[in-house]
Amino acid sequence: MLRTKIKEILKNGQAEIGSSLCVKGWVRTKRGNKNVSFIHLNDGSTIHNLQIVVDHAILSEETLKEATTGACIGVKGKLVASQGSEQAVELMAESIEIIGPADPEKYPLQPKKHSLEFLREIAHLRPRTSTISAVLRIRHAMAFAIHQFFHQKGFIYLHTPIITGSDAEGAGAMFRVTTLDLANVPKNPDGSVDYSQDFFGRSTNLTVSGQLEGETGALALGEIYTFGPTFRAENSNTARHLAEFWMVEPEMAFYELEDNMNLAEEFLQYLIRYALENCSDDLEFLAKRESEEEKQKPAHERHELSLLERLKFCTENKFQRLTYTEAIEILENSKPAKQGKFKFPVKWGIDLQSEHERYLVEKEFKKPVILTHYPKEIKAFYMKLNEDEKTVRAMDVLFPGIGEIIGGSQREDSYDKLLARIRELKLPEAELWWYLELRKFGSAPHSGFGLGFERLIQFVTGMSNIRDVIPFPRTPKNAEF
Ligand code: ATP
Ligand code: MN
Repeated sequence: MLRTKIKEILKNGQAEIGSSLCVKGWVRTKRGNKNVSFIHLNDGSTIHNLQIVVDHAILSEETLKEATTGACIGVKGKLVASQGSEQAVELMAESIEIIGPADPEKYPLQPKKHSLEFLREIAHLRPRTSTISAVLRIRHAMAFAIHQFFHQKGFIYLHTPIITGSDAEGAGAMFRVTTLDLANVPKNPDGSVDYSQDFFGRSTNLTVSGQLEGETGALALGEIYTFGPTFRAENSNTARHLAEFWMVEPEMAFYELEDNMNLAEEFLQYLIRYALENCSDDLEFLAKRESEEEKQKPAHERHELSLLERLKFCTENKFQRLTYTEAIEILENSKPAKQGKFKFPVKWGIDLQSEHERYLVEKEFKKPVILTHYPKEIKAFYMKLNEDEKTVRAMDVLFPGIGEIIGGSQREDSYDKLLARIRELKLPEAELWWYLELRKFGSAPHSGFGLGFERLIQFVTGMSNIRDVIPFPRTPKNAEF
């Protein structure tokens, strides 16, 4: 008999009462008495469990001995209307196969609340929890929606390299890629490493962004996007940074800053709407979980809006747009600034910290914010210089609870200005020859941005730590599994 997924069975009208079915999955709980046992079975296709009813007149208690929490079992039986109030249907078992037992003395996931910190230590088993499985299903739905959004708009999915020859991508510290023997590194006469003996005959790194290569695509195919892993060797142990994360980077010819902002806003609203329309079971579960967690917290640490309200809020309100300079004025005149409550003092020229970004979003405007025209000193070399020669056409999208979720800009399309900036910053001009040539041959105004995929998932699921929205988080001193 073919296996039916629990999601199909529970979907209204999909499986007929009285039909014979086979299900396979992992036992969440087993309870009962001498006459009857109830097993809650989950197969990962949905947040909901299927209730299996075992009448001991048909199947002895002995056959269920190994059907303990965590065990993998297969059940054949008849679908019946449930007598309990918690579910509409249940499966009356006719035979049970123990596919893979789980020693109850040793299986670490018990049917009780485990902390997220503990679950990170058992990352190989945590997808079997309701919370992490809900997050992973939503993560899948968002990845799918990203491709759908761009595909419908005619963007080309471009695969940019993960190993890069450039160490000037301008987005953060890099991990080196090498096959040299670390115990016996070949050296040049001047003592520097002789990379000519390395695998690629030069030094190479893991990419921090696909943007520079993405631009080559935009200036040929018109509109492209990349969606892949990126790596940053920064030692930032925060709830919003990973050393390995996924980034979505569209890059478009003939887009100016304004067009770039419009695309970013439409994109985020599309994704959030997609989640609301397609992931409602998982979102409702996570919303309930969050509100229960928050009951234990002091009032000022609770969200003002529930998870679902926060999502709707972003799809229903236009994002607030303002310049960096305007934002600095607001921050300087804010209560926390006047009372000395910001850890990092505010003045024109500073790189905004998460506390400042969150003040603007959560207290001042109470909606997503797009900040533009940042000082050139705090932004990457490739951003287009404004007429004031002080600020660049950057745009950061700031979200409640998260801070920066998107960073982007219109790119410098003038060869002379880009070259001057590269020299001013003493960047490796020779290495960037191909990037400069894009401005020499058929240059055009173009723009793009990077969305941190995990930050999006954090926002959509309400998970406060980024380590809980990726299957295997990579952070400083942590690469197990
Ligand atoms: P931040 O200031 O938050 O560290 P950034 O300015 O270094 O971010 P960008 O280089 O603009 O980030 O990258 C684009 C997007 O990638 C960011 O808006 C963010 O959503 C995401 N991102 C950046 N660094 C990380 C990281 N270490 N882990 C997860 N996501 C990240
Ligand atoms: Mn940024």
